[in-house]
This record gives sequence, C-alpha cells and structure tokens, in this order.
Amino acid sequence: MTGVPSDLEIARAARIRPIEDIAAAAGVNAAALEQYGRYKAKIDPARLDAPPPHGKLVLVSAMSPTPAGEGKSTTTVGLADSLARAGHNVMIALREPSLGPVLGMKGGATGGGYSQVLPMDEINLHFTGDFHAITSANNALMALVDNHIYQGNALNIDPRRMTFKRVLDMNDRALREVVIGLGGPAQGVPRQDGFDITVASEIMAVFCLATDLADLRERLGRITFGYTYERVPVTVADLGVQGALALLLKEAVKPNLVQTIAGTPALVHGGPFANIAHGCNSLIATQTARRLADIVVTEAGFGADLGAEKFMDIKARIGGLAPSAVVVVATVRALKMQGGVAKDQLTRPDMAALEAGVENLRRHVHNVEKFGVTPVVAINRFATDTAEELDWLLAWCAAEGVPAAVADVWGRGGGGDGGDELAALVARALDAPGRFRHLYPLELSVEDKIRTIAQEIYGADGVDFSVPALKRLADIERNGWGGLPVCMAKTQYSFTDDATRLGAPKGFTIHVRDLLPKTGAGFIVALTGAVMTMPGLPAVPAALRMDVDPDGNPVGLT
Ligand code: ADP
Repeated sequence: MTGVPSDLEIARAARIRPIEDIAAAAGVNAAALEQYGRYKAKIDPARLDAPPPHGKLVLVSAMSPTPAGEGKSTTTVGLADSLARAGHNVMIALREPSLGPVLGMKGGATGGGYSQVLPMDEINLHFTGDFHAITSANNALMALVDNHIYQGNALNIDPRRMTFKRVLDMNDRALREVVIGLGGPAQGVPRQDGFDITVASEIMAVFCLATDLADLRERLGRITFGYTYERVPVTVADLGVQGALALLLKEAVKPNLVQTIAGTPALVHGGPFANIAHGCNSLIATQTARRLADIVVTEAGFGADLGAEKFMDIKARIGGLAPSAVVVVATVRALKMQGGVAKDQLTRPDMAALEAGVENLRRHVHNVEKFGVTPVVAINRFATDTAEELDWLLAWCAAEGVPAAVADVWGRGGGGDGGDELAALVARALDAPGRFRHLYPLELSVEDKIRTIAQEIYGADGVDFSVPALKRLADIERNGWGGLPVCMAKTQYSFTDDATRLGAPKGFTIHVRDLLPKTGAGFIVALTGAVMTMPGLPAVPAALRMDVDPDGNPVGLT
C-alpha cells in the first residue's frame, strides 16, 4: 500500500450499514423493499408508499474530458454527501458499471476516493443481475428472430439487412464480426452477424427510457430489428415477442438501492453507452429518487456537449423532467490538455496552457445556459494542482459570472468537508426560478435537429451529410420517424468530430456518415466518425491486477 489508499482499500475500510437501515432513513416502506443480500436491495416503485416525483434535479456533467475521466461520478457522490451534510434530504441516481471497462482500461464506475457508492466490488461486478437480464432479453430476441427465419420466414425478413446484434457485457473484439448458422440445413440459415457490448444494446436504452413496465413492453415492441426483402421495417411487435422480453426484465426494471461511504442513499440502475445511446441511468430510478428525496443528484456520460445535451433533449423530454442546476466538472489537468499539453505532462504546472484550455470550459458553461439552466462549475481538485492554478481558475469563473468552487470530495469526502462550498452554490442555484427549455422542438426535421445541435452546442459552421446518410434521412421521414429526437454519436474529446481538435474550435463542419433509427428507445442516432459498439481490451487489461483472497475479498478492483 502506498501513502494514498486505493479506492478499493477506502471502500473496504468504510463502515457499511444494513440496507434496510438506509431504506428506512430514505422513507422506503418495507413492502417496497426487496433485499439482495445485506447491502443491496431493489425498490418496487409500484409498492412504494411515497408522493409523486417532486425532488429537484441536479445534473452532473463535465467539460471535454481526458481519457481517465474528470470525476463526474466522484463529484455526483461527493456533492450528494455534502448536500446531505448540510441538512438536505438528498438521493443519488447513477448508472450501473459495465464489465467491459471494469476488466479493461477505464475501471469501475462507483466514484473514487472518499466519494464512492458501496459495496463497490459488487456494484462493479455482477450487482443484482440487471445486465444479465438485459443481455438475456437481447439474445432471446435474436434467437427468436433466427428461429423465425429458419422456420419458414413468414415475415420475409432479409437476413442481410438485420440491424440488431447479439450482445455480451464484455470487451471482446473477436466477436465483432461472426458468421452464424453454419453446419447444414439443420443448423439454421447462415448469415453474417456480430456482437455488441450489452451497454450498447437498444434494449439497454429502452430499459433506461421506459416510464414503467407497461411502457417498457410497448417500447420493446417498437424496436426495429431489421428489414424485409421489400425493405419494410420489421419490429419486435411484428414477431410478437415483446411480452416475453418484458417478462425477462420484470425484476431488473426495479431500481437498485445502495449507499455512499457517508450513508447517503443511491439508486444505481441501468447503464446505456453515452455514444450510441443517451448515457444516463434509468428514468424509473430518477423518478423513484424524486419521489423519495427533495434533491436528486444524477449524472450523464461524456462531456456536456454530449451527455448534458442528450439528457435535456431525450431523457428530460420523455420523462417530463426539468433539471434545476447543471454542475460542470472541470479539472486543471483536462484544461491543460485542452490547452495543448500532452497527456503524460498534465501534472506539471502550466499557466499558459490553462489559460488557453479554459476556452473549452467557457463553451460548455454557456451551452448549459442555452437550456435555461444555471451552471455551477465544480473544480475537482487533484493533489498535483497548484494554488496558483486553482486561484486563477476561480478568478476566471468569477469574471465569467459563473458560480464555481474547488471540491475535494475525492480526498476529503463529501461526508467530510470536501464539498461544502460546492453544495452551498448548488443549493443556491436550486432556489433560482426554473426556465428549463429543450434546444429544439421535435417538429424540426431530423436534418435540422442535427444542424441545430452542431451549430448551437458544438459551434460548427454546418453539417455535411454523406450520401448514405442522406438516403437514410429520406427513409426516416418515409417511415414516419422524423419526429424523434436525435442522439449524437461523436467523440467526447473535442467539440468537433475529430478527437485531436482541442479547445473551442471554430470554422469546422460536422460530418454525419450514417443514421441509425432506434425506434424502441425513441431516438435517431447520428453517427459522426467511427463508433465502437464492441470495444476491445488494451495490451495490459485491468483484469491482470485482479484477484480474490481465500476469504472472498476482492483485490485490485479500481
Ligand atoms: P467520470 O465519471 O467522469 O468518468 P470518475 O468519477 O469515474 O470519472 O473518476 C475517474 C477516476 O478518477 C476514478 O478512478 C477516480 O477515483 C479518479 N479521480 C476522480 N477524482 C479524482 C481526484 N480529485 N484525484 C484523484 N483521482 C480522482
């Protein structure tokens, strides 16, 4: 053990309370609580004796990040702990981690330092089995589709025009492209197929946008999984299996209750990718939290150009949510990277790079204001930050008219005094009158919706649609999907679609190369650049550091 304990060491040393105590303190009645062991439970919203959703919503987003992440989850947990410490009735809503990044490079998603949700090992590994259920529902659909084709193909499905794949919650590049049904007539109809990671599945997005089990069943039925030989879309309802898929998800759809190191209740539920999907926890968890608490702190994946925009224009629209404040997490190291410093030099003081990189933060902060929501900048403090750098950044925010505080929720915890100032600023922002608005109306054409996002949020001059994308736009309008919101798939490292263009670039064009209708989730994915739906493992995966001792204690989880 080095001087600084690891996340796992901190988590294991923390006092964890029985989940029924956390539930009772959060106002969850016994009939709504379904325990999964001593420290995890599901809440059945249908049996919950609590008022309708009323809690104010704080969305935690970020500036354009470094590959290591800027601490959105850590800040979400720490801010909620600090608000609780200040006497507020608060709850957290977070995504469930995927095994792909846990075993691969990025590590888990339960926060860090003294701002974590517990039990961190179980949440990062199999948790309550939700991802298993989602994987099973997805693969049941594909087994039923291929069986339908094998049994005579009454729906006339074209096996070459399938838009759905099998999934696995694993980074496994070897499965990106496979051929199935080989071995002769008794083994099925051969076709080219492939695997995506579970969190990239449309079933995951549907799961996270459904308002309840009945709505989940409806949305599952609306999923388009392929096309006929006449190029007519084929849906799950055409196959008649939305009931079976909903049945497979009936327990998973109940939000999971856990606790932070400081004992704040947290719902950790659902986890769609932030590229191919909208990247936030389930709407059911958010609304359940809003029934139980006065303030709900939640998070959206990637930077504010992606996560926050999708939260506002997709999730908030479907759920009728109106966030009251947006916390934009910024770090000195990410600002320096945006100012042109190489990734391995970010711990060195560099005022010139900081000043150049702050243009990135400026655009994110003013973007948030376009939704009529107050931004609050959380400067997530790293041990290598100098006082000069932090003071300069605070002064810049003051001059810009944006409330900002340095938060050390990683080092001191929100349950300690690491986030007191941030919590006070957020509480003040919540008192401001709400003027939330979406960026675009759904009546705009899909083309104009994309253009609005590119120009208003990214700062682009315009959008260039490839020939296949233009054809797809016409198909979308013809199939009656033009009224859906847009889910942009773009690099998180730049406002442009080129990850190497840093800062706040001007004079660029966004290139849309294809569009993917996700008719169950209820959005159109606009693909800019390459999007990974089945990641690979790095040369030295995190799994190589992991172990378990003879008593069952985890080793090496990050
Ligand atoms: P995000 O949600 O933005 O991806 P996380 O909160 O998951 O980021 O944090 C990413 C990693 O960075 C975690 O391992 C976390 O422990 C670490 N981290 C976050 N904040 C700090 C900090 N202030 N100092 C050191 N490490 C941090």
